[in-house]
Amino acid sequence: MTRNVAIFGATGSIGSSALDVVARHPQRLRASVLAAGRNVEALVALCVRHRPDHAVIADEAGHAALRAGLRASGLDTKAHAGVAALDALAADPDACDTVVAAIVGAAGLDSTLAAIRSGKRVLLANKESLVLAGTLMMQAAREAGATVVPIDSEHNAIHQCLPPDGGCRGVRRIVLTASGGPFRGRTRESLADVTPAQAVAHPKWSMGPKISVDSATLMNKGLELIEAHHLFAMPSSRLDVLVHPQSLVHSLVEFIDGSTLAQLGLPDMRTALAVGLGSPERIASGVAGLDLLQHGRLDFEAPDLRAFPCLQLARDALEAGGTAPAVLNAANEVAVSAFLQGRMRFLAIPALVEHTLAALPAVPAESLDVLRATDARARELAGLAIETGAVR
Ligand code: NAD
Ligand code: MG
Repeated sequence: MTRNVAIFGATGSIGSSALDVVARHPQRLRASVLAAGRNVEALVALCVRHRPDHAVIADEAGHAALRAGLRASGLDTKAHAGVAALDALAADPDACDTVVAAIVGAAGLDSTLAAIRSGKRVLLANKESLVLAGTLMMQAAREAGATVVPIDSEHNAIHQCLPPDGGCRGVRRIVLTASGGPFRGRTRESLADVTPAQAVAHPKWSMGPKISVDSATLMNKGLELIEAHHLFAMPSSRLDVLVHPQSLVHSLVEFIDGSTLAQLGLPDMRTALAVGLGSPERIASGVAGLDLLQHGRLDFEAPDLRAFPCLQLARDALEAGGTAPAVLNAANEVAVSAFLQGRMRFLAIPALVEHTLAALPAVPAESLDVLRATDARARELAGLAIETGAVR
């Protein structure tokens, strides 16, 4: 049976990797819904190539242009706009059975939740939604019988190392590997004047701008600790981080009998996406096999928490629980965006996150409304701290 795949964030880095894998398996997979934020032209171009039933532009202002673009291209694809359309298609059983959640940031929360609540197979790349509301999302998945397949390479690696039912019986600890990003080995002082162009130039992975900056600050690994906590029900004390500059070992699971299982492969997100799209079968992804003779060595080192305090801030937020991860994520999104726009310096990213966490101490996060309000308030406070120069 052909899987109808909705790709939310189709014009992004993960979206394009997902479409690459889908297009390799026309008998098994079809892109039935393509959604993007605001780039109508790029979305229409993808529709011409993949001929989905539905195209959604989240920005309402793009509706007319999307309709006109699809019509001018002679396509039957239906044009939709706005977040309500995104959520409705995520939930619609006729539109898709599988959703690739690859929108960047907390903006991906509602559509991911809509897909989970309707019991879909959700290929989850949008880690920020789990950081913001992981407990509620995983609970919703259990209630609706949804399958959540982690696409983040580390979590996908762990998913591959765990038994098929995903249970963590016999697991002593989980070790997330980190490339260390473009500034690995640098001192904190030497990071004062790094530019956005330097920060997004990742040595191993080609990714969107936000996650590239997160990799440079190590906030990405911090978000991933929180992500792993929710996906695998592991406490912080059993989650470790190891810097591995070659990015070939994508994470490790240590069992109580002394075995450690790891998943290795070239750094290319199509492998993780193929695991999610093909499961339970293994399907071709276009990624070459790993030639360890050619690579020669695998190195490991401890993360430098002084140069990269975001990793510790995230661990502290995970341990504080409640609304703390939501505050961390929101402040980080504001900080990264300001840094990319040249309005803030690199070292102000952890400073702004710390400032916002201090201003909004953790309270229990009983409901989505509490988390949404916390997210909004944290963005407001972080924005204010930039404007007033309280953090620079
Ligand atoms: P990207 O910037 O390349 O693409 C983001 C996509 O989201 C685009 O299609 C954009 O149109 C869409 N989008 C942005 N804002 C939106 C909004 N408000 N509403 C609807 N759509 C919106 O980002 P990416 O690198 O592909 O990352 C996507 C997600 O996957 C992120 O959460 C990231 O952390 C995660 N992830 C990415 C990688 C990677 O290799 N790129 C690896 C692991 C996890
Ligand atoms: Mg990752």
